[in-house]
Amino acid sequence: MKKTIIVCIALLALLLSAFSPKNTSIGAFSIIYPEGYEARESSKVVYLTFDDGPAKYTPEILEILTKHDVPATFFVVGNTPYTHYISDIAENSHAIGLHSYSHNFRQIYSSAQAFFDDLQKIDDIVYELAGIRSNIMRFPGGSSARAGGAQRIMEQLKEELSERGYQYFDWNCDSSDKRGAKTAHQAMRHIKAVGDEDVVIVLMHDTQALTVEYLPLVIEHFRGLGYEFLPLCMGSPAVHHDW
Ligand code: ZN
Repeated sequence: MKKTIIVCIALLALLLSAFSPKNTSIGAFSIIYPEGYEARESSKVVYLTFDDGPAKYTPEILEILTKHDVPATFFVVGNTPYTHYISDIAENSHAIGLHSYSHNFRQIYSSAQAFFDDLQKIDDIVYELAGIRSNIMRFPGGSSARAGGAQRIMEQLKEELSERGYQYFDWNCDSSDKRGAKTAHQAMRHIKAVGDEDVVIVLMHDTQALTVEYLPLVIEHFRGLGYEFLPLCMGSPAVHHDW
């Protein structure tokens, strides 16, 4: 009986993998490939992303990225005394995404109007400091955010973002540097849990001293597995949370 069940499960898994569509749903997230996206020769791609800065540790993080010749993406906020680092991020050719001006969940998720008013503020700051209008963004808390009533208006926000020409990016690899991981070793354990997915979007924070410590290990890890490092742009495959 036990054997029959195992065989049935194996067959079912095989069937599911044979019919898996291009926009694959793996576990609790989907990888959304943009229209006309062609897989690159090196099929494994990793996108390093830093949220909630610019912050105290942004210059050190930029130095590490330069030293290892690795591009990254910074999802920036506006209510920080370090906004001037946005110019440095742009000068170092990293991608800049919008994360919100205030990062205040209750405020930005109170209504679609409040959300887009806040987004416009950070959009203008990035334009002023980096000279670009960014069309990539990440929701505070991700698209699966529940705090501040986000869930209530999330579908509407996603739809309107797309109409306004933005793509949003979640992550499928969480360093837990802001909650949970206390040491570089712990952060790496969380990061390695992603396995060898073809597309990896790593969530990190440049607000954390720990990030300076474990970032070289992240680069070494994915380089060792043969990943190509790229900055996010509108045409990148996007990881979207399904929960
Ligand atoms: Zn955030």
